Amino acid sequence: MNEEIIQKQYESLGISPEVYAFGKEIEQSLKERFEAIDTIAEFNQMKVIRAMQANRVSAECLNQQTSGYGYNDMGRDTLEDVYAACFKGEAALVRPQITCGTHALALALMSNLRPGDELLSPVGKPYDTLEEVIGIRPSKGSLAEYGITYKQVDMIDDKEIDFEGIKNAINERTKLVTIQRSKGYATRPTLSVDQIGEIIACVKAVKPDVICMVDNCYGEFVEDKEPLEVGADMIVGSLIKNLGGGLAPIGGYIVGTRDCVENAAYRLTSPGLGKEVGASLGVIQSFYQGLFQAPTVVAGALKGAIFAANIYEKLGFPVVPNSTESRHDIIQAVTLGSPEGVIAFCQGIQAAAPVDSYVTPEPWDMPGYDAQVIMAAGAFVQGSSIELSADGPIKPPYAVYFQGGLTWYHAKLGILMSMQKMLEAGLIKL
Ligand SMILES: *Cc1c(COP(=O)(O)O)cnc(C)c1O
Repeated sequence: MNEEIIQKQYESLGISPEVYAFGKEIEQSLKERFEAIDTIAEFNQMKVIRAMQANRVSAECLNQQTSGYGYNDMGRDTLEDVYAACFKGEAALVRPQITCGTHALALALMSNLRPGDELLSPVGKPYDTLEEVIGIRPSKGSLAEYGITYKQVDMIDDKEIDFEGIKNAINERTKLVTIQRSKGYATRPTLSVDQIGEIIACVKAVKPDVICMVDNCYGEFVEDKEPLEVGADMIVGSLIKNLGGGLAPIGGYIVGTRDCVENAAYRLTSPGLGKEVGASLGVIQSFYQGLFQAPTVVAGALKGAIFAANIYEKLGFPVVPNSTESRHDIIQAVTLGSPEGVIAFCQGIQAAAPVDSYVTPEPWDMPGYDAQVIMAAGAFVQGSSIELSADGPIKPPYAVYFQGGLTWYHAKLGILMSMQKMLEAGLIKL
């Protein structure tokens, strides 16, 4: 198709010829990186198909919609076998009754720790919502209330893993080590699967029976291997992020050793019941199909993140990760340096959405935050962050966190639209 026709198509959505041309040039410089992303997606796609075939996924698995207790739900049980095979675990728990990522992580922790045990984070402060789960910030029902203590080893200068510090922090009570793959809102880098493997080897050399859990949120399918392949005992995440492929309307997963997963199942439902109950209601097909689509969806989101990094770096803004760094999750941070910048960026992402494109996001006082926050999301699934979304606190350094995109083309439009809004507000010059 003629280049001019495509450009006109973008123009009809509000992208000016100069913004389009700027994006075009950047996109052309990224061909090799995009090819490398496609190769990983291809590899992971085969991984998913092989796991589905090996477990004889059938039409019956998809159509089963149990209600009530959900005994003998073959669709649910087979899906869990597929997850176990795909991620190289002995067992899996993949359920709509796990309401979000925080719930999945809390479940994995609370079910595998006992009073008197100690939890260790070897890579600094965990994700915000886990502070209350652990009891770093006092909270009802936290691990701290059950007599489970917490220790943390920070990364050195936010860069290097402190192996000596980790060895010294392990004691006779250390039962579980929680390793967060993605940096989340922290300033340290995201860990590669190989780095996670090094941390696990270090921990197990000191104390072989420590359970190593990985908070896998936003990291799934970014690389060709996952943390269970480098010695982790459990990986945990949300289905409205990478692995739901944009289709799962709710849910979380835990994959790992039979022991860890069983503990989690008995805590999710009840001692004695475990995995035997938990109706799949009507969502199971979306879980299968979402997993099937996840490798290419993650690839699209990654391309969007790299495209954004290259665009905004060229426009003179600090970006993390930078334009050339290797990627281990789908998050992109851009420091825009002013409230107007954060607002224009988010309004651009919103204006490019398939849903709610006509609303204008504004900063608001969100509970739990010490500054106003602006959020852009026009998602099919509420709060889904595998879909194109952005948010930023209105406080220095005025950084925006951007992630997702169910297709590369949508991510591209979102980023071009953010540039368009920045240009119209006089915040950038092309
Ligand atoms: C999103 C996220 C969580 C929490 O998941 P929710 O679904 O928002 O509860 C935990 N850890 C990391 C690293 C995340 O990105």
